[in-house]
Amino acid sequence: MNLTAYGENAQTALGKSAEKIIFLEEILSVTNQNSDIYKLNNSNGNEVKVNEDTANIINTSCQISDMTNGALDITLYPVIKEWGFTTEKYKIPEKTKLDELLLNVNYKNISVNGLSVTIPQKYQLDTGALTKGYTGDKVAEILKNHDIQSALINLGGNIHTVGSKPDGSLWRVGIKNPFDTNEQLCILSIEDKAVITSGNYERYFEGDDGKKYWHIIDPKDGSPADNGLVSVTIIGDSGIMCDALSTALFVMGKEKAIAYHKGSNDFDMILVSDDRKIYITNGIENNFENVSNMEVILLN
Ligand code: ADP
Ligand code: MG
Repeated sequence: MNLTAYGENAQTALGKSAEKIIFLEEILSVTNQNSDIYKLNNSNGNEVKVNEDTANIINTSCQISDMTNGALDITLYPVIKEWGFTTEKYKIPEKTKLDELLLNVNYKNISVNGLSVTIPQKYQLDTGALTKGYTGDKVAEILKNHDIQSALINLGGNIHTVGSKPDGSLWRVGIKNPFDTNEQLCILSIEDKAVITSGNYERYFEGDDGKKYWHIIDPKDGSPADNGLVSVTIIGDSGIMCDALSTALFVMGKEKAIAYHKGSNDFDMILVSDDRKIYITNGIENNFENVSNMEVILLN
């Protein structure tokens, strides 16, 4: 993580931001035994009182799950563990094992009542698909409350910008080329926006069968989502929405992602398809510079 803020209160604001990040890690971690998520995952179907941040994240994730027909599902954790993505002891699970685990995957069975959360026995949550986006929102909020008008928040590839650069020009954010991660795909010029990418090239392993298996899972079958996309970048005002959508649209695939965007006007996106084409929405056309040799297709 890398936070840069400009202005008189920058030091104080960054200190408060770091405290908030550490707090969020403590309550959302799947391994820390004192975290809300750990308590829920070991609750045996009993109600757990959680922090407001945890309730916010669970509520937003369920909304996006509804909006994307379940492409996002934070109850996938048992499946994600089975593939070894949490421990890096990777393996390709048997289909029967995945089917068995999927019996206990369904965000609709999460119940939130204020700060009381209940999940059924055998259910386990992992909010990793939206945590960084939410964290970026909270850091941006803290910085703005300290009158910071210019800041760059980089949470492991999730970028949030506050205002523009100190000299008033736009921030320039490079997106990696999924086919060659040492190269850039494009450069975006933005201000006051989150830019969040989900790709199949950050966390993956190669199976004995020579195939590549990555960490974004399709809740329909419990296997890595392989629906025509290799990366999805979402640009918008709300980090949590951008993060949730980057994962969900990756799962939905090219056609459904394009259709989803048509029905919504609060974000822009860059899709990279597995046949090496870049699809961009028209809201960012003028702030987008292609630095790859791939063809760009403008969506309207
Ligand atoms: P990253 O964390 O690499 O930036 P994402 O935001 O796309 O990427 O989140 C991926 C993480 O979310 C995975 O590591 C896994 O823990 C979890 N995950 C994978 N597939 C799904 C899904 N369909 N719905 C919800 N969470 C998922
Ligand atoms: Mg995400």
